[in-house]
Amino acid sequence: MVADHKEASKKEENEKNDNILTSTRTVIKDALDKLGYPDEVYELLKDSLRILKVRIPVRMDDGSIKVFTGYRAQHNDAVGPTKGGVRFHPNVNEDEVNALAIWMSIKAGIVDLPYGGGKGGIICDPREMSFRELESLSRGYIRAISQFVGPTKDIPAPDVFTNSQIMAWMMDEYSRIDEFNNPGFITGKPIVLGGSHGRESATAKGVTICIEEAARKRELDLKGSRIVVQGFGNAGSFLAKFLHEAGAKVVGISDAYGALHDPEGLDIDYLLDRRDSFGTVTTLFHNTISNKELLELDCDILVPAAIGNQITADNAHKIKAGIIVEAANGPTTMEATKILNERGKLLVPDVLASSGGITVSYFEWVQNNQGYYWTEEEVEERLHEVMTKSFDTIYHTAQTRRVNMRLAAYMVGVRKMAEASRYRGWV
Ligand code: NAD
Repeated sequence: MVADHKEASKKEENEKNDNILTSTRTVIKDALDKLGYPDEVYELLKDSLRILKVRIPVRMDDGSIKVFTGYRAQHNDAVGPTKGGVRFHPNVNEDEVNALAIWMSIKAGIVDLPYGGGKGGIICDPREMSFRELESLSRGYIRAISQFVGPTKDIPAPDVFTNSQIMAWMMDEYSRIDEFNNPGFITGKPIVLGGSHGRESATAKGVTICIEEAARKRELDLKGSRIVVQGFGNAGSFLAKFLHEAGAKVVGISDAYGALHDPEGLDIDYLLDRRDSFGTVTTLFHNTISNKELLELDCDILVPAAIGNQITADNAHKIKAGIIVEAANGPTTMEATKILNERGKLLVPDVLASSGGITVSYFEWVQNNQGYYWTEEEVEERLHEVMTKSFDTIYHTAQTRRVNMRLAAYMVGVRKMAEASRYRGWV
């Protein structure tokens, strides 16, 4: 029975990855066609240039040796070194790492960074591992990929279930191999090891800036507007805080166990205080609603900030918000995107809305390379400049080329990479 269940969830996961890869390729193809590039450019960009698979033996606390499998994908380095997070998760697999590396390339192109996309992952469950086992695994992964990555080749960062401590171990291991202190090898480090101010909340800050810009386009005053945020983890909780501080009424939030709704506005400070480190808070309440109901609530702005495939052909007709800003990766299916656009909704796509993280990661790398560190205000000011410019470019592209914001974002995101590949003589 347990084996059946595992088989079914593995199949579901493979289908999901297949969907991510297939839908990403479809939009890239559409974007390249719109921009007038020949098929060979699509052939080059539809896959990662390189994917390394490694095996990492780790001595566990009980004395046994467990061998873990890890990956590192480098999508395209025509523009510059590749960059992207490393996730520790039981469902990590080659297709997922490949698709996520492609997404990172698009994000880097959108915010105009001198990077291509990369992504890494290890198949493991960090929730069941000790601190010492996690350190051995992190160091073992870096030893296994050390010749493949580097501060001018491919720069890792945190992702699902990895954090600044894991980045610190990885940076230390790489510095030992390289025999000099090398903070620019990885981003998302603790501040004392060369991390950047504002990195932790960068994604939510970037989403907030997109929400402000989208509201302005729709002539909606953010002050007093009604907002629903799905997910109360790193992205969702910072976001609820920033929106609350901006005077918006956060009327709904949720986590994996349910959702809270108050048309008068939830007490965000109280919820932030009570949430646990996994972003759970609704279990403290009785009068909860479901995540499905949350998405269909009457509100002005809806922000999916939890997991993928939340707005589908089944519920896209019932979404009441006029503006949807995707903080999560892939929360809206392709069919749902079409329905929402036909209904005149303003849908700000994930590749734009959640690019604050990679932007501040770039700032961290720049500060490490210069050995000169910025204040939090400087980081915020530069992030604001990058995000507003990117939003405007994509909005303008959507208007002038008469395409939706997602396709416009891919057109902007893919163009520099395609041009750079052409100048290098690759296609
Ligand atoms: P997180 O793990 O900190 O929080 C996830 C939140 O979603 C939690 O509140 C959890 O309870 C909730 N959740 C989990 N399963 C759910 C379900 N089935 N239904 C409803 N809620 C559910 O993650 P995060 O870092 O906040 O990331 C959230 C999303 O944003 C992800 O899609 C992630 O890929 C994307 N994202 C995050 C960052 C970042 O810097 N944190 C950057 C880019 C994109």
